[in-house]
Amino acid sequence: MDILKKLTSLVPEDQFSIQADQLNVASEDESTLPGVKPLAVIWATNTKEISEIVKTCYEAKIPITTRGAGSALEGSTIPLPDGIVLDLSRMTNIIEYWPDDLQVKVEPGIIYDDLNLYLKNDGLFFPPSPGGSGDIATIGGMVSTNASGIYSVKYGGTREYVLELEVITGTGEIVKLGNRAIKRSSGYNLVDLISGSEGTLAVISAITIKLAGLPEGRRQIAFIFGDEKSASKAVSEMCRYGLDLAAIEFLDRAVIQALNSLKNYNLDELPSLFLEIHGPEEVLDSNAELANEVCSEFGGKPLMLADNHNPWEIRHWVTEAIKHRKPGYTILRNDVAFPISKLPEMVEFCHKTANENNIIMHTFGHVGLGLLHALMLANRDDQQEWDKAQKINDLIIRKTIDLGGTISGEHGIGLGHKDLFELEHGKAVNLMRKIKLQFDPKNILNPGKIFDI
Ligand SMILES: Cc1cc2nc3c(=O)[nH]c(=O)nc-3n(C[C@H](O)[C@H](O)[C@H](O)COP(=O)(O)OP(=O)(O)OC[C@H]3O[C@@H](n4cnc5c(N)ncnc54)[C@H](O)[C@@H]3O)c2cc1C
Repeated sequence: MDILKKLTSLVPEDQFSIQADQLNVASEDESTLPGVKPLAVIWATNTKEISEIVKTCYEAKIPITTRGAGSALEGSTIPLPDGIVLDLSRMTNIIEYWPDDLQVKVEPGIIYDDLNLYLKNDGLFFPPSPGGSGDIATIGGMVSTNASGIYSVKYGGTREYVLELEVITGTGEIVKLGNRAIKRSSGYNLVDLISGSEGTLAVISAITIKLAGLPEGRRQIAFIFGDEKSASKAVSEMCRYGLDLAAIEFLDRAVIQALNSLKNYNLDELPSLFLEIHGPEEVLDSNAELANEVCSEFGGKPLMLADNHNPWEIRHWVTEAIKHRKPGYTILRNDVAFPISKLPEMVEFCHKTANENNIIMHTFGHVGLGLLHALMLANRDDQQEWDKAQKINDLIIRKTIDLGGTISGEHGIGLGHKDLFELEHGKAVNLMRKIKLQFDPKNILNPGKIFDI
């Protein structure tokens, strides 16, 4: 194919592949959606190469799906059969570092945990952790999905940290967006627009982010409750009190049962809250005391963890534990987010709807931000059961939108949630389509993700 010949000429030999095993790796992400093999994979190593590749694809109207680690959960990294995968995982350099300004400029392929390891010596860190994927997720992927995690209740998500981007638009033009000023009021905020755009507006080739100081101390505490509703009411109340918590994780009793079964933790099989507080010793003491007071108001009792288990070590195993519950079954997930006061209603709705349909439901999440993961287990070979689980998923999302929430508080839209995107955004999707074409006039950048043109 002429276009592949032309693309090969743009990069050294070891940066281009049409080998089946490498096309297979590039064909999927961590979603349960089927993979799609691209025409080729190209590993770019600098901005100029990216620009030349995009220019060539623009001429020939070849779709490009940019890839970091491929850990996305909604199919946003799945390529098109007539397109290429532009893999940036070899662009891992720290370009510039200003510890006194609490800022760093990095290439997009650097891995979240590697960056934090580098910053640790200076007592700094990049807070919006992407949970269990911190050891693989790239900063470029995190910006593109606006990733956030357990500490976002205190520190915010990725978007809040991005100051400046170097991007390549769909015509191959290199553009700098934003600057290093923290406070700014200077025109349209295109940096925020790129964050969360899932590779549909531009390819990100350099990122300047803000950092935070590592907390002086950390304390983890956990509580169990008589029922899910009381636990979620305690969360609303702690937020209303303005309690300064770094993390508030909710795990329902089904999740705790799954954890006990996988890891023998011997936890009380009751809905639980795992909390973390950051600060000096006095702050840890006073906040822990206040959290204790609020939780006990709703019947919460302190949860003693055996063998000095850390709550986050336990939390880490949640998805694995759910999978383990029914070997051969597939997880159907969502990551809805809504105003915090709706949490009790949403938890109840998820369980009631699933129970009525005989589907196994688990709910957990960063509930301090109103984010709930509802994970179901269903047998994919049993079409009736699979359809039922999908229908429940759909009902949960529709209910979230009715309550003023969003389809995705964390993982993005990709292909997985595309069908209900218009329901959430209405006519605003037409404006998004026009914006997309300004950045990418031939619709070659990750086409078909989020919405159709
Ligand atoms: C076990 C597990 C736990 C997870 N936990 C969390 C969590 O707590 N919070 C959370 O937010 N997510 C979580 N995720 C999802 C995922 O890790 C994040 O979305 C992560 O930010 C994706 O990074 P990546 O490098 O893998 O991106 P990829 O999957 O490679 O790409 C994601 C999207 O970004 C685009 N993209 C990637 N790099 C660029 C670039 N340089 N320029 C333009 N577009 C680009 C891609 O085209 C795609 O649309 C989890 C995933 C797993 C597997």
